[in-house]
Amino acid sequence: MSAGRYAPSPSGDLHLGNLRTAMLAWLCARSTGRRFLLRYEDLDSGRTVQGSEQRQLQDLHALGVTFDGAVIRQSERYAHYDDAVAALRARDLVYECFCTRRDIQDAPRAPHSPPGAYPGTCRHLSERQRQQRRAERPAAWRLRTDPREVTVEDVLLGEVSAVLDDVVVVRNDGAPAYNLAVVVDDHLTGVDQVVRGEDLASSAPRQAHLRGLLYGDDAFSEVQYVHVPLVLNEQGKRLAKRDGAVTLEQLEVQGHSADAVRDALLGSLGLPVGTLSAALEGFAPDATLSAGVSEQVRLPEPLLP
Ligand code: GLU
Repeated sequence: MSAGRYAPSPSGDLHLGNLRTAMLAWLCARSTGRRFLLRYEDLDSGRTVQGSEQRQLQDLHALGVTFDGAVIRQSERYAHYDDAVAALRARDLVYECFCTRRDIQDAPRAPHSPPGAYPGTCRHLSERQRQQRRAERPAAWRLRTDPREVTVEDVLLGEVSAVLDDVVVVRNDGAPAYNLAVVVDDHLTGVDQVVRGEDLASSAPRQAHLRGLLYGDDAFSEVQYVHVPLVLNEQGKRLAKRDGAVTLEQLEVQGHSADAVRDALLGSLGLPVGTLSAALEGFAPDATLSAGVSEQVRLPEPLLP
């Protein structure tokens, strides 16, 4: 059955921007009859903050964001990532890469290669060279791709294009890389609608490409993408934890109830306030969101106790 999802990293409390994206993902899923899944992207154990899963869930519930089925944790799904990498290996679609960040930065690159793209240094190593390099440092695994442009359709942004490059699918500490885990999880859990911040839009063509490679041509185009505007701070920069009171707990201390925050977030989307279910009435991802989403969220003066 088709589904949408919200996929936070449990690396601390959610801030207003994260919460608004989660509300939008819920609205998009529910308004299109999809299930809505919660997936913790907890592969980077160094960033995991104890207790934040529970706190994130409580905050989402306080705003009316509900989920179907069991919570999914990437840290419990290694077998699926291993299967996917084995399938890519069997087709010779991945190769070992020994480059450090520095090596990548300093490597000569082809004219017109996109900024940050992998320059291909380890693509053509001989077995002998690989053996030598293995003794020096552990390898990451990269996808072998043609540097061609791939385009996906986004409900809000229209066509989103990116030139493919050899993305990492397994990091050199052995952990599955972000792009691989997202693609495997989305596909295997029936996710066919991806709503997330627009900072991730440029990942969509690569992820669609990888999904097609792993699961067949139809899988390339089975996802509806909705990359939504981020909440900005007063300087017009993407909201962050350092911008003061931005989590539900911090706002509560200042006298803003979860209901008031929910209404401010809904207001910033031009949606009716009250409950999330009320906002769902008449919500259509393209029409509602194209009508104008405010980048800043204004909270009313708190009621003094
Ligand atoms: N875990 C990512 C984040 O917290 C989201 C990944 C995704 O939605 O694909 O920004």
